[in-house]
Amino acid sequence: MTTASVVHIPLPTPFRVGPVNVCLITSEPVTLVDAGLNTDEAFAVLENAFLREGLALSDLQVVLLTHTHIDHIGLLGRLHEHASFTTYAHPDAAEHRLNCEKKHEEAQRFAFAIMRECGVPDEIVRAAAEEQQSYREYDTDAAVDHGLEEGAALGRFSVYHVPGHSALDMLFVDHEARIAFTGDHILVGTTPNPLLRRPKLGQPREKSLVQYRASLRKTHDLDIDICYPGHGDPIRNHRQVIEALWARQENRNARILELLGGRCMPVYEIARELFPRMNSKYVYLGISSAIGHLEVLEEEGKVASEHRDGILCFRRV
Ligand SMILES: [Zn+2]
Repeated sequence: MTTASVVHIPLPTPFRVGPVNVCLITSEPVTLVDAGLNTDEAFAVLENAFLREGLALSDLQVVLLTHTHIDHIGLLGRLHEHASFTTYAHPDAAEHRLNCEKKHEEAQRFAFAIMRECGVPDEIVRAAAEEQQSYREYDTDAAVDHGLEEGAALGRFSVYHVPGHSALDMLFVDHEARIAFTGDHILVGTTPNPLLRRPKLGQPREKSLVQYRASLRKTHDLDIDICYPGHGDPIRNHRQVIEALWARQENRNARILELLGGRCMPVYEIARELFPRMNSKYVYLGISSAIGHLEVLEEEGKVASEHRDGILCFRRV
């Protein structure tokens, strides 16, 4: 495959992150990487992109999902009305999509419990719950057909699991063409915030930023020329982008140590210092980011956690 057969298509979203990219591979099998947000506008832009390439939606044969956030899977349901194709994603995504409603409720319960544990006031947790509800309209009930294990080969692509931004992040790498589809794993100008995630039954919660940093090291090693990200232009210097992310993470770690000083602070207070404009819409992101960094510092032996009156707090050691 030459890079010329990859068509990079930004689709509109009403979100602060701006457009979300899907990529169309026009050679056989006709493949779409990610499926945008479930809106009429995004669907119209996608359909036009197919037409411009001399294709109809019914030509679509394969959909690869880099992860399952709503801005990357939304149009799957509408596409199924026009084409019969096979969808591939992380093995857990295939399972997750089977009981979507139940899983969503469990994730919500986890999010609200952890926000309370971090000291977020009840009225902000309630407002955050309403914000969350407003995203449901974009969901799709489409299923994932096949899960791909780490190291799997799918046609020209090698599959890499890179948990961090989400637990189910995957890269599709074409080593011969020296390109990769990287979803929200690395982005320019936006920090791909690793969100806190509900632990699997009977297992401890994964440390999302610790995990993300390990994934970034793996991607840094890839010998490729172009990464096609979920948001923004194609990336031609992925190592520099990753090094800039590491530098930003180190800066934030240093800032947290500085603001902790000799105090023992609830996570919510730390998040508010880091993100003074954080409102109910972004509180879960803020809490996720703060805990992520605190867990990295904890692994480095620089901070320790304790519960005070049931609230998760951190102090320097
Ligand atoms: Zn995204």
